[in-house]
Amino acid sequence: MSRHDIAGLRSSLRGIPLLDDPARLKNKSRDFYWYSPILRDQLEDVRAELVVLPENEEQVITVLAECFARGVPVTPRGAGTGNYGQAMPIEGGVVLDLSALRAIRFIERGRARAQAGTRLLDLDAEARSTCGQEQRMHPSTLRNATLGGFVCGGSGGVGSVTWGGLRDRGNVLGARVLTMEATPRTLELRADATQKVIHGYGTTGIVTEVEIALAQAPQWIDAAVAFDAFEPAAAFAYSLACQDALLKKLVTVLAAPIADSYIRPLSVRAGAPGAHLVLAMLASEAYEPFEAMVRNVGGRLVHRQDDSSTDTPGALLPIYEYAWNHTTLHALKADRSITYHQTLHPAPDSVASAVALHRRFGDEVLQHLEFVRFDGTIACYGLPLIRFTTPERLREIEVIYETSGCSTFSPHTVTLEDGGMKRVDPLQLAFKRDNDPLGLLNPGKMRAFREPGYAGGERALHLFSGGATVAPSGSDGPKDAVHGTGAHAS
Ligand code: FAD
Repeated sequence: MSRHDIAGLRSSLRGIPLLDDPARLKNKSRDFYWYSPILRDQLEDVRAELVVLPENEEQVITVLAECFARGVPVTPRGAGTGNYGQAMPIEGGVVLDLSALRAIRFIERGRARAQAGTRLLDLDAEARSTCGQEQRMHPSTLRNATLGGFVCGGSGGVGSVTWGGLRDRGNVLGARVLTMEATPRTLELRADATQKVIHGYGTTGIVTEVEIALAQAPQWIDAAVAFDAFEPAAAFAYSLACQDALLKKLVTVLAAPIADSYIRPLSVRAGAPGAHLVLAMLASEAYEPFEAMVRNVGGRLVHRQDDSSTDTPGALLPIYEYAWNHTTLHALKADRSITYHQTLHPAPDSVASAVALHRRFGDEVLQHLEFVRFDGTIACYGLPLIRFTTPERLREIEVIYETSGCSTFSPHTVTLEDGGMKRVDPLQLAFKRDNDPLGLLNPGKMRAFREPGYAGGERALHLFSGGATVAPSGSDGPKDAVHGTGAHAS
């Protein structure tokens, strides 16, 4: 039996595409939550009561107003590639699938603006053909993920070694946001104000358009370098990441036996078992100096592939599809007992930290490192693969990372705060209170909204903090342009 007035809602949404057969409801209520054995158990039965697929912004406004009138929760969804249950409707109601909103508004040198459902791959293709540019960064799910889903659910990825994360000032330039009220308002967030929705899981508003900064698109070359030991591999990767004059988009370390056990094409390229691999994407003009670096440290260059040649017979996937959270996906495909963690090794000794943890855990925790630019310096994320045994041991491993000086961002929880991505974010909390007074947007994901005394955990670190905190609304913080009228128009 429906928990909400879905029959009434359906009749008020005539003309808007809907799905309600059990298989589609199940499918559209899921993301990659099963990366976590904890979330796999917790979220298995989560189901939307209705999936709505609006084709334009006017229809989105109708859906929000009608859901608000009936107290029906709304969970926005792009492509559903999030991996902490972000797009899962844990309190039922409507899944608002925005993937049909895919118009590209404009592309010009340095910037692009598109509707939230635009696939990142399509936006890149269009930007390349229009002005030889591309998005500064994308998740390794480039082929499927949407612009709105990345901005609201992601943090950074391929490109972050040069450009930092989504939250870094200047990467996301603007966002058009709808509020969840009797008469939804349309807000235009600019500059710092975009932080109100970035990595907010859609709890603070429905994003219908995003404006992002673009970068010059060189010809990228994929490469893999093999080392006989983990330490020189990690040290080489750090040193490569620090080369500001070598334009690059990816620097990843996969400790042995990740390739041998889970990523056969890379293992075959490495030629001998036991290789520790550094994966990289270099601009073509950076490749020769990169080769010289490899020779200097005694690495073996085992793979080279131009980005345009991934369709040729025998080619590997684009190298980024072995990196970031794709590494975990390859491992899970081979062994369902694998899970992972998300950590940040302490700077400036991140390599020493990763090496110490590699020695300590051996094969129980396999080191996977991603180098990024973080608040002006090169930092090292750990996305280690973990042989899961029990929830207690998983937590013990997290504690060992923390006591070793690492920050951890748990991928085994659905809430923004417990994920450790941030403590209570006052800016997003205030924005949610203004825009979603009944708490109907993706309910259950922002603890601070429901638990007024909740002050967050002890971790002060924001993932890709953008270098600074911005003031909450109501203070002297950034004001949002308001279009149209509404109950709380200011
Ligand atoms: P969804 O999963 O559909 O949604 C993500 C979140 O945003 C949800 O909370 C959803 O409710 C909300 N949302 C979606 N659209 C809107 C909207 N229009 N308005 C408001 N809220 C909205 N993430 C990274 O950051 N970097 C990576 O490199 C990376 N690699 C990945 C690799 C794999 C194999 C997998 C499975 C995941 C990876 N992720 C990564 C996580 C995920 O792919 C990205 O965050 C991706 O950008 C999400 O896009 P999506 O369209 O699938 O969003």
